[in-house]
Amino acid sequence: MASQTDSAHDELEEPTESGSTLDTARRQLHHAANHLDIDPNVVERLEHPKKVHEVTIPIERDDGTVEVFTGYRAQHDSVRGPYKGGLRYHPDVTRDESVGLGMWMTWKCAVMDLPFGGAKGGVAVNPKELSSAEKERLTRRFAQELRDVIGPKQDIPAPDMGTDPQTMAWLMDAYSMQEGETTPGVVTGKPPVVGGSKGREEAPGRSVAIVTRLVCEYYDRQLAETTVAVQGYGSVGANAARLLDDWGATVVAISDVNGAMYDPAGIDTASVPSHDEEPEAVTTYANTVISNDELLTLDVDVLVPAALGNVITERNADSIAAQFVVEGANGPITSPADSILAERDVAVIPDILANAGGVTVSYFEWLQDINRRAWSLERVNDELETEIQTAWRAVKTEFERRDVTWRDAAYIVALSRIAEAHDARGLWP
Ligand code: GLU
Repeated sequence: MASQTDSAHDELEEPTESGSTLDTARRQLHHAANHLDIDPNVVERLEHPKKVHEVTIPIERDDGTVEVFTGYRAQHDSVRGPYKGGLRYHPDVTRDESVGLGMWMTWKCAVMDLPFGGAKGGVAVNPKELSSAEKERLTRRFAQELRDVIGPKQDIPAPDMGTDPQTMAWLMDAYSMQEGETTPGVVTGKPPVVGGSKGREEAPGRSVAIVTRLVCEYYDRQLAETTVAVQGYGSVGANAARLLDDWGATVVAISDVNGAMYDPAGIDTASVPSHDEEPEAVTTYANTVISNDELLTLDVDVLVPAALGNVITERNADSIAAQFVVEGANGPITSPADSILAERDVAVIPDILANAGGVTVSYFEWLQDINRRAWSLERVNDELETEIQTAWRAVKTEFERRDVTWRDAAYIVALSRIAEAHDARGLWP
């Protein structure tokens, strides 16, 4: 860790690798900061979350017993605006994971130039083991425990792994009931009928598809001659796969937790239900089934890991055959694997740009909620396209100017904006 007295030009030491999300996030921060004339005091501040809230959430199970879960909200940085980021329901949710994911949200909002900071949180629970009524009770109680620290001007949660528009509707309802007024802007990713934005659910996948198209254009590759493998067929993977399929690419593999469907001639992605349409059904539609590990190493042009974090590690980075990796999931590549891919000249388009369509349309949703005026789907998709293109151009400029990886270029754009904001606001008291 950089000491307070380091000069801006000293190499910042990267934290030791443990493979955790927080370590990966911190290593990436240091790696990018080394390319910038950035005040080490700002890096020091960005290494730590502003606040982490830990709460216990007792709920009554359907059998009448009471079970207590642990929930977190890590608020990383708010120098550019209210905290923003998802809530996940997953057994692996921890304090540190929430902090690492919250850091990524700070960079993601900055690279997209949205007036938000970064946060993330969730509950350590396996949502598959909860009935819908139990999930509702969990969500309402979690909202109650976080009530003082969230709000449309403070911290705005959104869906993430294991949560969905319905979860956000319960959260918004619980918060609104306590406030005594309907407050749609407290969360984004709600159903449109209660102030959600059209196009929000498809947005992360749409941005993955747009960025894939832009990267192909950049390297003079026609989408019609491009093969794609997508790991994960949830809202990110399925929407990305379907759009790329519509735009002429050949999607040869898609997968869910049970394995992957493989067809070198191309999959008709519309005919395979996404996780939301029919959970974990991909392999039941397949003639040829391969494993998720095999999908990652397929000889395709573009690989889109859009399922879990840490799926590309030192173990398989050498076997990745794709020329481009577009990160649909948050943090699918560990730091050592990232270095291996960089040495092998694999172009990795980072999560903070590639899947940023989600939080960008969340921003549109927040604006719609403030103005009490819904946008058309066409307007949402047009403005999303514009925002992604603008961010892409900013990242491309740094990529070309500094001869760094795409990830470092995106971090440089984000960190410069955050550092400038910290500098302008100063440290008080
Ligand atoms: N959970 C999403 C992400 O990781 C969206 C966050 C948001 O919309 O606030 O980017």
